[in-house]
Amino acid sequence: MSNAGAEALSAGAANEAAEAIHVENLHKKFGQLHVLKGVSMSARDGEVVAIIGGSGSGKSTLLRCINCLENPTSGLIRVNGEEIRLKPDHHGGSVPADRRQIERIRSRLGMVFQSFNLWSHMTLIENVIEVPVHVLGVKRDEAIAGAEKLLERVGLSEKRDVYPAFLSGGQQQRGAIARALAVQPRVMLFDEPTSALDPELVGEVLKVIADLAREGRTMVLVTHEMKFARQVASHVIYLYNGLVEEEGPPEQIFGDPKSEKLKQFIRNIH
Ligand code: ADP
Ligand code: MG
Repeated sequence: MSNAGAEALSAGAANEAAEAIHVENLHKKFGQLHVLKGVSMSARDGEVVAIIGGSGSGKSTLLRCINCLENPTSGLIRVNGEEIRLKPDHHGGSVPADRRQIERIRSRLGMVFQSFNLWSHMTLIENVIEVPVHVLGVKRDEAIAGAEKLLERVGLSEKRDVYPAFLSGGQQQRGAIARALAVQPRVMLFDEPTSALDPELVGEVLKVIADLAREGRTMVLVTHEMKFARQVASHVIYLYNGLVEEEGPPEQIFGDPKSEKLKQFIRNIH
């Protein structure tokens, strides 16, 4: 290759942020039910990718495959450049080829689910330090110092020693975000983090997520909050029936959708 060619290549590589998540032709079947039918997507460092779509379109299944909570039937997933290695099982699906790899990958992803997932038998700060101390081997006093900073960031310093049952839904979700951040994840995954909340508590959780977006955190966010997706997302993916029906920048997806299905979806939301 000529020098000029090599320079052009490396300049191109420098402009493009690395892919934190890469999904290619992902299929997932539950028995006869073909839920994901060849989904491809990626999230580059610093990107906020919003995934929207009707109920049952496969949004949660996609996130769960990325986080190794479900095993893909076929397809390729790379997290932090590392391909999840799978081997065939006896039912036409796959299982992880290397359990330790799954643990390593999962420990670098911060996942926040729809319903509050703090451990009920631990105080808030114990929740936040649990994985750093017991999985990642961080010293307890260091983990506590880190956790206190995180709780301050999500506005829960004064709830440090409270059990989840004594927190509001919004506080629990903010606590869950602090706990997810404690592993210093390269990517945060959110699955409808506000859909189980009373309406008056939604804003405080969205604000925390918007702050993370502003800091340039890489996120994949499944949400039915369309206004919010439009504000924070750099890229929007519309899933329909297990396939990417349309994707693009938020202005295009919400302002100038092409697909009839997406147009109808947006009409029904408003
Ligand atoms: P969404 O999050 O977009 O609402 P899901 O990914 O949760 O959709 O579900 C997609 C489809 O897969 C639904 O029909 C759902 O019932 C089915 N499904 C999800 N998880 C399982 C499972 N563990 N076993 C069987 N079917 C499942
Ligand atoms: Mg879901």
